[in-house]
Amino acid sequence: MITQNQSHDVIIVGSGYGGMLPAYQLTQAGFKVLLIERGKAWQRNMFRHSWSTEYLGDLFDISLSTSMKDIYRGSKIFGGGSVMNDKIHHRTPSEAFDFIDPDIKKRAWPSDVNRKILNPFYTQLEELLSIHQIAWEDVSRIGGNFARMFNDAGLTCDRNNFNVGSGCVHCGFCEAGCQFPAGKLNLVSEVFHLALDTGNLEVVLETSVKSVAPLRGGGYQVNCIQSDKSFDTPATSTYFAPKVILAAGPIGTVPLLFRSKSKLPKLSPALGKWISNNGDMNFILKTPDSYPDHLGYRSATSTGVMTYAFWDEYRITMHPGMAPIPVFAGVDARREGKLSWGLEHKHFVKDNVINRLIPINAMGVVPAEITMEIDHRGYPKIHHPRTKALQAHAKTLHRLMKGVCQTVGGELLITGIHGELFDMGGNHIIGGARMSEQKSTGVVNPSGEVFDYPGLYVSDASAIPGSLGINPAHTIGANAMRIGHELVKNEGGHLNE
Ligand SMILES: Cc1cc2nc3c(=O)[nH]c(=O)nc-3n(C[C@H](O)[C@H](O)[C@H](O)COP(=O)(O)OP(=O)(O)OC[C@H]3O[C@@H](n4cnc5c(N)ncnc54)[C@H](O)[C@@H]3O)c2cc1C
Repeated sequence: MITQNQSHDVIIVGSGYGGMLPAYQLTQAGFKVLLIERGKAWQRNMFRHSWSTEYLGDLFDISLSTSMKDIYRGSKIFGGGSVMNDKIHHRTPSEAFDFIDPDIKKRAWPSDVNRKILNPFYTQLEELLSIHQIAWEDVSRIGGNFARMFNDAGLTCDRNNFNVGSGCVHCGFCEAGCQFPAGKLNLVSEVFHLALDTGNLEVVLETSVKSVAPLRGGGYQVNCIQSDKSFDTPATSTYFAPKVILAAGPIGTVPLLFRSKSKLPKLSPALGKWISNNGDMNFILKTPDSYPDHLGYRSATSTGVMTYAFWDEYRITMHPGMAPIPVFAGVDARREGKLSWGLEHKHFVKDNVINRLIPINAMGVVPAEITMEIDHRGYPKIHHPRTKALQAHAKTLHRLMKGVCQTVGGELLITGIHGELFDMGGNHIIGGARMSEQKSTGVVNPSGEVFDYPGLYVSDASAIPGSLGINPAHTIGANAMRIGHELVKNEGGHLNE
């Protein structure tokens, strides 16, 4: 039996940065909001210190590229990525917004969306999540050794901005969910109750939106299934509202729009195009012999520092990331010219993995050349071509990091397979329903509203037009707040700013 529900001004799909923040703004402004989230609400004591795939499979939505080389991770719990990400929140440098998309030969971002426009929303998000630059004494030794390599090479490196509270015990399991009160400050702990306290928010959990359809007299019908069912089963509940905001993340929103295509025939042909992995490339550094050992297994702030040393010339940033052991379990890390298996490799890893190796996540402003479609059951199929631009980005990164290692006496370990230099990370996927000034080059207009479908919005990472070259959550959140802000204003509502 299908249950039908209608009493909301706005339905929001997904409770991550793109969904929870507009939910907060709209409820504060007096709108009745229904938030539909596929995942469960996890209490802090449900999170475990575990990297087992079985456990992580409960937190992450995982898709493989069709070549099977790349793994894309979204989140599938209440609060989205804010609950299981590494908590790095940096404003995107202004130059990234001016990136000229080689396909359309003009700025990928709409002309009136830029760093200056986002600045007030960055500030609001910084206040909401208490984002601040950590102190040097809170940087772990693994982060300190990374910063020292850059310093010794005559390059700059500084501390990250984190949404971390006084309850952080430096356990290092941020990506497995934070168990500690006032540890990682996420959208559930800091923002959800502000929306709930207004009395204007209703939440439906463990419910996945299968499709969206326009109603004849205006507004939209949102068709849902229970999250333990697959998208090729019929909808079991429907909700109706004049306005709907899609914020299910790129591997949620883009397939959702594809599944809705028969009911939304005027969707832009740009759907599923101009997707980027944010220029992510992962590799490993071995510290110079003269450096002190670090403890690379347990350290909350293994991601504690960031370098912009290569930004001005190459639009590249990088930070140490996560503990080396799960990285070695997940990618084919090896010394150049050597095997990623065998006795020699085994001894090298055993001797160095805990105290001498630093996994790195580098990001860059590269063209958005990934595409997505859906399979016959409605799940994402992602194609990640190894284009010339991507290969050039990898070569530049390789040259720069070889240079750093040669100068200070460290070593660069590569991670790519099938002749590639680096593993191309899939944690920062953006685009696929990007915002643009024209329907031919984007799915939503600069206000986040889907072209030809008034009242239907996309406010998550899929609306971001191009790679940012820096960790994206802060910009996804700020842009979602910009979209929420405009929506409230256009509807004659008032925001507490
Ligand atoms: C391991 C890891 C570490 C990361 N670390 C950082 C970091 O330190 N800094 C940073 O800037 N970025 C980081 N990121 C990336 C960042 O978390 C994401 O870019 C960000 O969360 C995307 O925001 P979003 O709102 O688009 O989607 P999400 O935050 O993923 O939210 C989408 C929500 O929609 C829900 N959903 C999906 N499909 C449906 C559906 N059909 N129906 C209903 N609900 C649905 C999901 O369950 C989820 O809760 C990390 C990512 C990963 C995987």
